[in-house]
Amino acid sequence: MYSTTRLLKNLILKVALNVPIDNLFDYKIPSNNSIQPKQGQRIRVPFGKQEKIGFIHGIGSQTKVPASKLKPALKIIDDEPLVNNELLDLISWVANYYHYPIGEVYATAVPLYLRQEKTPKIDAMPTESFQCESHKKLTEEQEQGFKKLLSFFNQRQIVLLDGVTGSGKTELYLQSVDRNLKKNQQVLLLVPEIGLTPQIFERFQKRFGNTVSVVHSGNTYKQRAEIWLKAKQGDVCVVIGTRSAVFTPFKNLGMIIVDEEHDPSFKQQSGLCYSGRNVAIIRAKQSKIPILLGSATPSFESLMNAKKGKYKKITLKQRVFATPLPQTNIIDLRVHSQEQGLTKFLLKAIKKHIENDNQVLLYLNRRGFSPATVCSGCGYIEECPRCDTSMVLHKRNNRLVCHHCNHNKPWEKICTECGSPSSPLGEGTEQIELALKKEFPRASIVRMDRDTVNSKKQRTRLLDQAKSGTGQILLGTQMLTKGHDFPNLSMVAIVNADQGMFGSDFRSSERFAQTFVQVSGRAGRRKTVGEVFLQTYNPKNPLLNKIISQGYNAFFSEAVLDRKVPQWPPYSHLALLHAQSTQKNSVFDFLNTVRKKGDAINLGNTMLLGPVPSPIEKKAGKFRGQLLLLNTNRKELHRVLDKLCWTIKNTKKTSKVKWSLDVDPIDLS
Ligand code: ADP
Ligand code: ZN
Ligand code: ZN
Repeated sequence: MYSTTRLLKNLILKVALNVPIDNLFDYKIPSNNSIQPKQGQRIRVPFGKQEKIGFIHGIGSQTKVPASKLKPALKIIDDEPLVNNELLDLISWVANYYHYPIGEVYATAVPLYLRQEKTPKIDAMPTESFQCESHKKLTEEQEQGFKKLLSFFNQRQIVLLDGVTGSGKTELYLQSVDRNLKKNQQVLLLVPEIGLTPQIFERFQKRFGNTVSVVHSGNTYKQRAEIWLKAKQGDVCVVIGTRSAVFTPFKNLGMIIVDEEHDPSFKQQSGLCYSGRNVAIIRAKQSKIPILLGSATPSFESLMNAKKGKYKKITLKQRVFATPLPQTNIIDLRVHSQEQGLTKFLLKAIKKHIENDNQVLLYLNRRGFSPATVCSGCGYIEECPRCDTSMVLHKRNNRLVCHHCNHNKPWEKICTECGSPSSPLGEGTEQIELALKKEFPRASIVRMDRDTVNSKKQRTRLLDQAKSGTGQILLGTQMLTKGHDFPNLSMVAIVNADQGMFGSDFRSSERFAQTFVQVSGRAGRRKTVGEVFLQTYNPKNPLLNKIISQGYNAFFSEAVLDRKVPQWPPYSHLALLHAQSTQKNSVFDFLNTVRKKGDAINLGNTMLLGPVPSPIEKKAGKFRGQLLLLNTNRKELHRVLDKLCWTIKNTKKTSKVKWSLDVDPIDLS
């Protein structure tokens, strides 16, 4: 007895704390402690003059902290680990791969409520029985796909389910989930955005009843913690959520599904820049469970992995309700003039479809009235004083608003440079809505963008109008295009195809193709054949014609080749080092120093490019610059990143520069 106590006394607890320091912190076990220390338990510790709550990440007997400075922890909070071993391993991997402080990774993984010294009481599983909908009889193609799916799962392969919209991918998810549930295994389903969740949640709940839980932004902190704990105890069978749900602990996880795996919103764009999809793949590997990635427009990375045989691809080509894919018409803006963004040709088509009692959807990924205002005297385009971007005109409140930093001011209709009259330039959804109202005064128009939707309630109300068919013309940004099934929709219009197709990022055309396919897939899902219209100044563009005439996969085969010579992903792996400061010089001094240090370490085949100013150089008053690291070999890239990060962290900073690392960036701006 005496000896074990003494042993315990000498233990060093390695604690992860939510502070921006890339270290574990060593503590002795608390005096008067009666709890056996285990990895994953919460612990309260002294930290400077404060107290903090962290997690026991490791337990050892060695420390570099001198005995005089080594403090005892205050209290081990949990009898049993809050973070189970599986999640602990995942957290370690994430901290390592994204070069991010481990304590902050815990803060992403564990709900806020549980990071305090609180634990909600969990009710036992509700026992009320539920009349569940039975499975649909699979079509021939689905049946074939399902058989393959199960055999790939048995071989522990990563499966990419590449199926056109309406081909019944979700039905295959449901039926494979059923097999897991029958084996008493849990399932995690990741979806890109909360807007998609209600629909997929309903379908899962109809099939499996109240054993399905959804994590969404409408949950209170406490509810989130409850779902998290229930999953850990095995009291919910299916968890549906967005990217952070990848950190849900499970008692017995049997499968992960990532729906719309290509969607950029799986990537967190600030702080810990992790990819929910990629972390899910690692999780499946660590836990030795199957993972299914589904999309009608898979990312180039995933298609390439399938091509190389790293993933197994299953293709569904037919729609369940054998409606053919819609016809696409290109409207050449060089020939057809537009007024307020709409050509006569397009207006005529809209009229025809709504007169037939069908619905029409117009897609434009720009909110506001005009993306810019221009001076008639000197040509000055009104800019945000804090960013390198134009101010967007919103007529609703007659203000010019910066969409990057939210700086705004009244619209005076005068140029700030020379005082001449200034006028709107280009169209946003707000203007298109007004133009449509003028043209179709009796039609009911539903506009969905971030200006009309700022609560869940509003979103539900507008979506209900759209789905029930009371809304005849649906108009919106990305928000409207994803995942929704509008039964009466027979026509889709892409108001400005050039805007997406010719962006500066090497992924612009991929993103455009995905949006195009997703949005045109909304037309004519049931009775009628749909029509798609696309307004462009570049009707002859070969890639555009490729997607339209031969579809997404043919487009991939051709578009991906453009990335081969410059070695963009999927032919390489990237990491982007960002730096920002109020002083432009400081940014470049810092990046040049890093560059020198980088050149001094053995870079091997890793290319170190830059420093260059970021595509949007000034944002919210900060100057921004970047260094890009690129290697065809991921391991090699990470070997360099390890060294480089270590060097930066151990260099005394002379000026106020904030830096961050984005591993596998999806946006270089
Ligand atoms: P996807 O996820 O590929 O877009 P879904 O699974 O949503 O496709 O299927 C499209 C529609 O077809 C849905 O309304 C779904 O309920 C229905 N459906 C799917 N599979 C079948 C089937 N085997 N029999 C009948 N209806 C089906
Ligand atoms: Zn002017
Ligand atoms: Zn701004």
